[in-house]
Amino acid sequence: MELPAAPGGVPVCSCCGGPAVIYQPINRCHLCGMHLVRDVEARVESTIKTAGQIRAGDRIAVGLSGGKDSTALLILLSRLLPAWPGADLVAITVDEGIAGYRTDTVRAAEALTERLGVDHHIVSFRDLVGYDLDTLLAGRETQACTICGILRKKALTDAARAAGATAIATGHNLDDEAQSVLMNAFRGDLPRLVRNTGTGRSALFLPRIKPLAAITEKEIAAYLFVQGLFSVLPECPYTRYALRAEVRSLLAGMECRHPGTMQHLTDSKKSIEQYCTGTPVMESLHRCRECGDPCSGDICQVCRLRHSLGK
Ligand code: SF4
Ligand code: ZN
Repeated sequence: MELPAAPGGVPVCSCCGGPAVIYQPINRCHLCGMHLVRDVEARVESTIKTAGQIRAGDRIAVGLSGGKDSTALLILLSRLLPAWPGADLVAITVDEGIAGYRTDTVRAAEALTERLGVDHHIVSFRDLVGYDLDTLLAGRETQACTICGILRKKALTDAARAAGATAIATGHNLDDEAQSVLMNAFRGDLPRLVRNTGTGRSALFLPRIKPLAAITEKEIAAYLFVQGLFSVLPECPYTRYALRAEVRSLLAGMECRHPGTMQHLTDSKKSIEQYCTGTPVMESLHRCRECGDPCSGDICQVCRLRHSLGK
């Protein structure tokens, strides 16, 4: 199929013929800024409705790092939420305590919540375990993202419960989801690959929802950019130790050469989940014998981490 192009060879929007800002290779579509915004908002709304992620009266705690994904998520939810009567938002920023990185993003999160009129809570690793991440990591920087991820999840969950939330929304996009599938496959970690990443509502868990899971990182950046909402923020200094960084560049190359790779990876996870339902791979949940939080073993990851750090 021929792609539409203006006389000068500049691609034009497949919907309105205006100048295009993005190309979506899977449906071979060019979109202008206005149609990109409409397309992203319609797909996010469809993800939420199809999976029943939000209900009337819900109080959604949005994990707001201040980076582009969570910024887009809060903006999108504040626009879409009126469709659910009585539902409201609270934003939660976790300050890990990473020198030279968090100050700017926390400031961006404060400015955004103020502009949108959303209740905002900031919690820190220092509040949670008594130390910031930089101190906790001395001599074990290569474990940065593992330790950070465990503590951030705990800090976000505790803060969401304290704020009276009924669900937690995170800004994970299609790229993140596809990277996670590949990382778990590389580690040979099938239980983690099929673990429910949170669209269900269980009595033990505060449900975690991912309304941006069908949107690519590129679409999110463009969504913010065309509305004048994109800002360049510093990158976490520990990113260089992350397996995710390697997987990201590997997948970006694959996606470029074979459009649809990321979607196929996330679809394959859903198929594997179905095959594993009812098998021992789907670990059942217990309560941690030390803190009472839900976990798959005897003690939860946070308590195990506290022991290993001697904190
Ligand atoms: Fe935490 Fe790793 Fe993300 Fe840095 S890159 S904020 S250490 S998970
Ligand atoms: Zn258009």
